[in-house]
Amino acid sequence: MPYDPVVNSKACATTITVDDRTEIDFVPGSRVDLSGKGFGSFFQTTETRAWGDGFGRLDAPQTPLATCDILSRMALIEKLQSLPPAPGVYLMKDAEGRVIYVGKAKSLRSRVRTYFGKGDSRISVQFLVPKVADLEWFVTGTEKEALILENHLIKEHHPRYNVRLRDQKTYIGLRLNVQDRFPRLTTTRRVRPDGSLYFGPYTSSQWMREAVNLIQKIFPLRTCSDAAFAQYRRAGRPCIEYQMKRCFAPCCDYIDEARYREMVRGVTYFLRGQNRELLEDLRRKMEAASESESFEEATHLRDQIRAIEATIERQRVVSEKQIDRDVFALAREENQAEVQVLFVRQGKLMGGTNYPLSGVRIEDNEVVSSFVSQYYAEDRVIPDEVLLPLPIEDRDALEEFLAEKAGRRVKVLTPRRGELAELVAMAAQNAEAALEKRLASRQTLDAALDELRERLHLRRLPRRIECYDISNLQGKHAVGSCVAFTDGKPDTSRYRKFRVKGLDAPDDYRMMKEVLSRRFKRGKEEGEVPDLILLDGGKGQLGIALEVLRELEIDDVDVASVAKYTEDDHLGARAKARTMEKVYVPNVKDPVRFPSSAPAMFLLQRLRDESHRFAIAYHKVLRRKLTLISALDEIPGIGSRRRRLLLRRFGSLRGIREASVDQLCEVPGI
Ligand code: SF4
Repeated sequence: MPYDPVVNSKACATTITVDDRTEIDFVPGSRVDLSGKGFGSFFQTTETRAWGDGFGRLDAPQTPLATCDILSRMALIEKLQSLPPAPGVYLMKDAEGRVIYVGKAKSLRSRVRTYFGKGDSRISVQFLVPKVADLEWFVTGTEKEALILENHLIKEHHPRYNVRLRDQKTYIGLRLNVQDRFPRLTTTRRVRPDGSLYFGPYTSSQWMREAVNLIQKIFPLRTCSDAAFAQYRRAGRPCIEYQMKRCFAPCCDYIDEARYREMVRGVTYFLRGQNRELLEDLRRKMEAASESESFEEATHLRDQIRAIEATIERQRVVSEKQIDRDVFALAREENQAEVQVLFVRQGKLMGGTNYPLSGVRIEDNEVVSSFVSQYYAEDRVIPDEVLLPLPIEDRDALEEFLAEKAGRRVKVLTPRRGELAELVAMAAQNAEAALEKRLASRQTLDAALDELRERLHLRRLPRRIECYDISNLQGKHAVGSCVAFTDGKPDTSRYRKFRVKGLDAPDDYRMMKEVLSRRFKRGKEEGEVPDLILLDGGKGQLGIALEVLRELEIDDVDVASVAKYTEDDHLGARAKARTMEKVYVPNVKDPVRFPSSAPAMFLLQRLRDESHRFAIAYHKVLRRKLTLISALDEIPGIGSRRRRLLLRRFGSLRGIREASVDQLCEVPGI
């Protein structure tokens, strides 16, 4: 396009600041000559007529805009015009080039342009679009590919305005490796396309443990590892499980493959919830056993039937249709949301789990769509049906994606009435309850932080608190711990542990000084310090922290120390001692005491207990490791390499001690 320094300014900015000296006045409806005013090269490549033609916010800002703003908006308009009408993924970037939102679309052109249309009052448009300075996109062959790429890019860029599934919950499932000659049941946290059968997820590990115990009693499959199985087969004798009647010893062929497969079938029925089939099967066998006068066998089968019936009674049936469903619901209050997932297996409600989402600035259907595709991008058991609370634009793509993962058809439904809608309503009730609880606890935490600030005379709200503790055994294996709380909640990514060096005497003050000096020397260099430092201890520890901060010339961090004391409670019928906390702060003689029910008190106790727990845990690990190393060091011919190999193979000193000579010799390099 030829260079055209004239811009049609109808309904456009009134004044543009080019630099310190130049301002351009725009009169709506007129044409403005921009030649020689710093825009030249830019306009050589830009569609100037797009300027006043729409795209929402660009057409009527009443305040002066910075030149870079104008330039990037113009470039953005140009990009919007060249968007292809094809499926793909778009990345919205801010002025610093950070990816702030990733979305997928059936048609990139129409989808992205909806954000920049006039009069759109969607939340995402209000919060997101003003921050968009640049746009990038990738065209994909299908919508399903766009969905996969979107997940990948969200994981890579962590965009601020996307909902992100931070799944720290550990789901346990069960795996039955049916491709083995003699399969066994193992717990697993991952679902792999390896031909095994997977069951779950089980949100209650207690339920799962009970189920596994029951299964082992009813169907005593082998429990040994493949290596142990091979070892006992070579030895030609079964392990103690056989003596205890918990395994039929397939390792020694004491059970034939067909009979073992019958048990595997029973386990599969049981875990799939196909209890009717399982019970019918067992009853048939029981009758056959009693007819042939195998009374022991018949009694065993009768006990199995009773155990299964007792389990069935405890399961809540929510659907007549015996299929697997995951039911999603969303509860939202402004930018806080909660997603609830209920697991229905073979018509029975097996439990559920919820996911808190904060800072949500996109529409509900986008939240659901993005969450669900991220959810199934992980290794999960894919159900037969996925029930959603709202229709989503990319339902077909999601179905295709799930079908490919599961290797069978998967339906994605948004039920409006009937049994399925009731399931979604049940999930919604759970989501609302979880959100309400979270918001209430948030308010309590805010109150606790306010109370701390006020009572301890802090300079600012202690949104980031670090609490320090020391653990050692008569000065040996000394370690320091730092636990960090952000907005009143543990922030485990900022937990730190320190190994105290060069001190063998039990001197807590010097140890604390070393830990704090190391932490804050680095913190000062990196500009990363908390609002409040809390120490487990009294005035002595407080003095140490103040000394370290003084030496490092850090003067914008508050410090306090918290110590336990006991107080007699005379209110009850009998006097009893209560453990309370007192808090020391600089330049105040007497410690601050909080009422026992104060939210600030709970927060301080949590911080102190957590740092104590963290320090002791590290101390124990270190002590065990050093004891182990020194014990192995006493064995001639064992250097660091062999020590590592042995530990890797047997896990502990006890494991090495209990290993046979043959097992030790199996370790490469020994
Ligand atoms: S008896 Fe044999 S198959 Fe059964 S658990 Fe022991 S080693 Fe494994």
